[in-house]
Amino acid sequence: MNEKEHPDTKSKYNGFDRSKIMTPVVSEHLMKLGCNISYPGNKKFAICLTHDVDDIYPPLSHRILSGLYSLKNKDWSGLKKHLFWNMDEKQESPYINFQKIMELEKKYNAKSSFYFMTAERDPRRFRYNIEDIADEVKLIVESGWEVGLHGGYYSFNDIDAIKREKRRLESVLGREVVGYRNHYLRFQIPDTWELLEKCGFKYDTTYGYTNMVGFRNGMCHPFRPYHLQSQQWMDIYELPLHVMESAMFDFAKPHEAWELIKQLLEKAELNKGVITVLWHNNVFSCPFRDRWAEIYEKILQYGVQRDAWMVSGEEIYKWWEENGYLLYNQSDPMG
Ligand SMILES: [Zn+2]
Repeated sequence: MNEKEHPDTKSKYNGFDRSKIMTPVVSEHLMKLGCNISYPGNKKFAICLTHDVDDIYPPLSHRILSGLYSLKNKDWSGLKKHLFWNMDEKQESPYINFQKIMELEKKYNAKSSFYFMTAERDPRRFRYNIEDIADEVKLIVESGWEVGLHGGYYSFNDIDAIKREKRRLESVLGREVVGYRNHYLRFQIPDTWELLEKCGFKYDTTYGYTNMVGFRNGMCHPFRPYHLQSQQWMDIYELPLHVMESAMFDFAKPHEAWELIKQLLEKAELNKGVITVLWHNNVFSCPFRDRWAEIYEKILQYGVQRDAWMVSGEEIYKWWEENGYLLYNQSDPMG
């Protein structure tokens, strides 16, 4: 896409006709059938806010890019903060920024989910030991935000790995973990759902695009997957993921990105749906990613203006379960 081109819904990207995935056709159909959905406090729709925590210590690429950025702007304290953060024992890693993110969300009466990694293996680099940030992780939950598991790169088809990772996170947290998203959005349908169900997860939110934004299965509503072989509804919710920031900024400039997100939010409002967004925590501590962080705040501002319920995946899944939305039975297809 060149700079002058507007990311309108007609443009094609990676062979996709974007208009098809910018419309939640399945959800629109369900609403036409008379599906009735409401939210706490009569909110108009919901925005599920999530953060994958891939790193808690800046990788080399961060140091180089942040260092160059600080030099260019003659920002000497920034240079020290990003390049030499671990020279001073008192100084914390810039990526341990959960408090900062929660403060931002609090300003807009919003809460979110943080998915942490406890996998031992990773194709890129060693990530982190969750035990190093036990206090920070506990504080997230004590403040009313959610902590979920960010399953390892190799874990999506390995039940022992998922179990091990879940147990490790829970022992640090001192409570059960119910939400899941796999690293790199790796997922096998329906196998990963089955494994997650067996491990006691209540919801997954991996189902989205790694190179696009939009409604991958035409839905802006959480749903319970149907298992074709066993012919049963599975005991887990899927909260489809609609926007992963890194995928979006790969092909869209910030002003284009905002237009795309706004289209998705408008569709969600029309269908009383849930839009799930993923902003990695590192975005909020990368000087060269400032524009990405600004777009996140814009979503929060928009949510306030349009009266959206902005919460964690855990709260969304609980609300859907309590109200039995989109649960099918023979007499009443809408539950
Ligand atoms: Zn990840």
